[in-house]
Amino acid sequence: MRVLVTGGAGFIGSHLCERLLKEGHEVICLDNFFTGSKRNIAHLLDHNDFELVRHDVTEPILLEVDRIYNLACPASPIHYQYNPVKTIKTSVMGAINMLGIAKRVRARILQASTSEVYGDPQVHPQTEAYWGNVNTLGIRSCYDEGKRVAETLMMDYHRQNHVDIRIIRIFNTYGPKMAENDGRVVSNFILQALRGEDITVYGEGAQTRSFCYVSDLVEGMMRMMETPGFTGPVNLGNPAETTILEFAKKIIALTGSSSRIVYRPLPADDPKQRQPDISLAKQMLGWEPTVCVDDGLKQTIDYFRSVLTTA
Ligand code: NAD
Ligand code: UDP
Repeated sequence: MRVLVTGGAGFIGSHLCERLLKEGHEVICLDNFFTGSKRNIAHLLDHNDFELVRHDVTEPILLEVDRIYNLACPASPIHYQYNPVKTIKTSVMGAINMLGIAKRVRARILQASTSEVYGDPQVHPQTEAYWGNVNTLGIRSCYDEGKRVAETLMMDYHRQNHVDIRIIRIFNTYGPKMAENDGRVVSNFILQALRGEDITVYGEGAQTRSFCYVSDLVEGMMRMMETPGFTGPVNLGNPAETTILEFAKKIIALTGSSSRIVYRPLPADDPKQRQPDISLAKQMLGWEPTVCVDDGLKQTIDYFRSVLTTA
């Protein structure tokens, strides 16, 4: 099949492109390189079945494809808050433009949504049936609400135009090729530990997250795309939940670092707890994560070590 991956030069997108090529598909990677990098896909450029298009999803484009994975959107708070209006445009106009292609050429389209649609959740763990607790006015809203509208657009194109859609709600995912400067907790803590700098825990570190290794996520995404008759939404994430303080201690232990933990103010609207209920993914996709957090973190630490050595 010919597969379009928007945001294909980003962290998750580049892993997905690599896996799709391995499975024998033709891949069109579309990216505007806002947070993605050529380094992530440099090793794919010589592949006969790989094509790179520099394009912004907020602008229409004509392409003929069988599948569309719509991942284009900055994912880390620092990046999506840099130009919040552009973030909303990317989610909303990007979804409209990609749904337009899907409708015209009858391609199947998968939208990368997020656990952020649950906001600061009052239900724990989060199931797909929960409608969420999002502040419409806060600094995270450009991302959260943009993704919520993208989900709505998917459902409306499905009901109105019979577009074949899939919606996945991705929970915190980590692994090699995360951007060093993206300010997310995994890259921050590992880089701080490797450089011997203070580890910056925001708030008291009592907030929780559940971290999924990228290869597990990509497997779940591809199963969702190819499962007939199931639009989702479906949660994809690793239910192994940890407080951010415990996580900081784990990174110190795994890196053998002498870094100290310091405390910094908690950003506004930072969700207090987050853990996916993945019963639906297990039932419908036969999917669950296979990489334990220690193994995934070791791979990620090795990656950042090599990035620091090269730099
Ligand atoms: P990322 O920032 O590494 O990748 C996003 C990619 O989209 C980048 O390559 C960027 O250049 C590209 N992009 C951004 N705006 C664009 C635009 N207007 N036009 C074209 N390309 C554009 O982030 P990621 O972690 O790989 O996330 C990929 C997707 O998964 C995003 O949609 C994100 O919302 C979603 N997601 C990720 C996580 C996570 O933990 N990583 C969690 C939930 C959802
Ligand atoms: N966080 C932290 N120190 C950092 C970066 C993040 O304590 O240097 C916290 C952040 O406040 C949040 C959690 O780690 O509670 C996850 O943050 P991230 O930006 O990775 O993702 P998100 O908040 O979108 O889940």
